[in-house]
Amino acid sequence: EKSEFGVVGLGVMGSNIVLNLADKGVKVSVFNRLSKGKKNAVEAFLRGEGAGKKILGFTNLKDFAQSLESPRKILLMVKAGDAVDEMLRGLLPFLSRGDIVIDGGNSNFKDTARRLDELEDSGILFVGAGISGGEEGARNGASIMPGGNEKAWGKIKPYLQKIAAKLPNGEPCCEWIGGGASGHFVKTIHNGIEYADMQMIAEIYQTMRKSGKFSNEEMAEVFEKFNRGKLESFLIEITAKILRHKDENGQFSLDLVLDAAGQKGTGKWSVESGAELGSPISCIAEALFARFVSGMVEMRKSGARIFGSECKFNMPSGAMGAVLENALYAAKIIAYAQGFSILSAASKKFGWNLNLGEIAKIWRGGCIIRAKFLDRVTEAFSADCDLENLLFSEFFAEEIRSSVNSLREVSSLAAQGGISMPAMFSALAYFDFVRQTESPSNLIQAQRDFFGAHTYERTDAPRGEFFHTKWE
Ligand code: NDP
Repeated sequence: EKSEFGVVGLGVMGSNIVLNLADKGVKVSVFNRLSKGKKNAVEAFLRGEGAGKKILGFTNLKDFAQSLESPRKILLMVKAGDAVDEMLRGLLPFLSRGDIVIDGGNSNFKDTARRLDELEDSGILFVGAGISGGEEGARNGASIMPGGNEKAWGKIKPYLQKIAAKLPNGEPCCEWIGGGASGHFVKTIHNGIEYADMQMIAEIYQTMRKSGKFSNEEMAEVFEKFNRGKLESFLIEITAKILRHKDENGQFSLDLVLDAAGQKGTGKWSVESGAELGSPISCIAEALFARFVSGMVEMRKSGARIFGSECKFNMPSGAMGAVLENALYAAKIIAYAQGFSILSAASKKFGWNLNLGEIAKIWRGGCIIRAKFLDRVTEAFSADCDLENLLFSEFFAEEIRSSVNSLREVSSLAAQGGISMPAMFSALAYFDFVRQTESPSNLIQAQRDFFGAHTYERTDAPRGEFFHTKWE
């Protein structure tokens, strides 16, 4: 009897997805390459976690492919990059027209676009699916963003929706995103928003820490309170847990973590896309750059030697909880507005016809940025799918009006106290720019015309008519 579904790659994500599928009664074939000096991952899996389930294991791609019913449905869960191309090349001779290959890794969407082109003539239906939720999501329900060859969707939908997280009303956090590389692009921007979200939470942590008025446990209480209100989200929830955690010596574990943030590429790809599409995702960019600065540990030591590292946040502690909550909420809405704007820009440029409300719904469960307020994002885009900017929707405009003054207050106190707050400062700067009918960019145009004769448009002439002035 053949398997219904195949998974290539038994790493953290692959093995948990296989167990998730097996729990749902799906008969699965698995493949992992054999490497010299490494234990046989397939054998180890079938003896360990995979024991006693309807799982067939292979270390040979031909046997693996032959064990699958037609049309084959194969999920690649290997390292992003060359490994995906290697596996595709290896599998291709054993596949037939109409078979489906899904790349579920964190692939660069440009690679996904290339692979779609390369596979076009082979008749293989290729899908690039962004998967979020880490190990836990893979095992118990992930947020899944599939895009690519739409002919594949009907056949893979039951499987992907089975392993997806479910909303309280039972809806799966997995819907068809669109054509081309849209699935991996949406996952990339999801991760970009995650960068901004995390950086902003870290900036709030810094204000509390530098106010000198909160112990780690008291900070945990503040985040727990946030998590019972409008900021309710996975990242706030784990922040509270991290702050409370103590090691075996009774020391707070967070205090022992080196302050140099790592990254794997999706933040960088988001920011590159922002530049390519002319989409100002400044909060994501600042969050990415903040990780770079954090990594320059030695340089920061030199900076501290030269300028001193003291900083403080001066606000009565009784007032802080509510003000920080509002400030973070305003900044977060602005970061998400930027994230949805770049999705909209890409959708127009590549003709993907993205359903932004549906994307917010997919992000509502299973993934790292899952948050209560995404329901409101879905509502805003359902009410108006051509919404120019999420900030302009009735609901979010009102939320911003009532919370932005807290963002101003926190930003000014941070600035005065010498606390670096790149993501939240840039959220505020973006907000004040998008409501500005008199930006200072007239001066920039004049300067460009002065030194380069680049010409400029005039306020008293129609757009598209260009003028040049001899400034000297
Ligand atoms: P792991 O490092 O745990 O596993 C990687 C898998 O890829 C292993 O099965 C490995 O096989 C295989 N592999 C690596 N190089 C090659 C190659 N050249 N040819 C064939 N197989 C290869 O990674 P994860 O499971 O964490 O991640 C898999 C994918 O999912 C990545 O793209 C990752 O970015 C993405 N992802 C990860 C998340 C996470 O939280 N971990 C969340 C969402 C997506 P071997 O053991 O033989 O080296």
